Amino acid sequence: MFQIGCHLSIAGGFLAMAKDAIQIGANTLQFFTRNPRGGKAKPVDEKDMADFRNLIQQHGFKVILAHASYTLNACAATEAIRQFAIETMADDLARMEYLPGNLYNIHPGSHVGQGVEKGIEYIAEALNAILKPCQQTTVLLETMAGKGSEIGRSFEELRLILDKVELNAKVGVCLDTCHVYDAGYDIVNDLEDVINAFDRIIGLNKLHAIHLNDSKNPFQSHKDRHEKIGQGTLGLETFSKIINHPQLRHLPFYLETPNELEGYAEEIALLKSLYKEK
Ligand code: FE
Ligand code: FE
Ligand code: ZN
Repeated sequence: MFQIGCHLSIAGGFLAMAKDAIQIGANTLQFFTRNPRGGKAKPVDEKDMADFRNLIQQHGFKVILAHASYTLNACAATEAIRQFAIETMADDLARMEYLPGNLYNIHPGSHVGQGVEKGIEYIAEALNAILKPCQQTTVLLETMAGKGSEIGRSFEELRLILDKVELNAKVGVCLDTCHVYDAGYDIVNDLEDVINAFDRIIGLNKLHAIHLNDSKNPFQSHKDRHEKIGQGTLGLETFSKIINHPQLRHLPFYLETPNELEGYAEEIALLKSLYKEK
């Protein structure tokens, strides 16, 4: 089954978000757990979450992806900022237990001049602080473009973080196509090599989700500007290869392209037409 969805707004609540997803032909979705610029999450509305769960179950959604605020920085130089990231992520994970068995994506963070090694240490510390043996959510580290001092620009950096996490079964990786291309993994010309490198360095068993974004910038630009599918430097053929790849085709795919609902509906229809059912 082709699992395809996109980033949606949670502003109207969970049930309204599920209805949006269904209306645009999606069978999975991603949302920010709270305002991406930080701030407080809404109080838990158990009825809304239960209605949401029922509706997506009826429509065959297998898994959904929550995305942490991208302003959190678990490897900041200031202790208060690191602590805020830990508390916010722990609160998000507590809420995710109302939607058991799903995924929670985080950006590893930026080391802001402290060095990659220090940054990795802080991120692993944060993960060890928030992960609980009984939790039913898998936390994913996103592959990053390497803008500024972002950690997670290489598969090796992600592997180093994962190796320091005690509850290793609770963590995995989300691969962002725009980010890896901007970071210097040539998925346009050498997709096979990139997948093999991921498998060798991290392990494909750790790959739980893919962000499908075209890129506004050239290979290795370290920029992170998403483009609509087929309209950037990756091109449509690359996306066709990715969604149909024997080692990726079972994964859930999420669009984070510059679109309103209508544009997302078109991209979802386009990708469905490219997906070859077995
Ligand atoms: Fe992200
Ligand atoms: Fe992403
Ligand atoms: Zn991005």
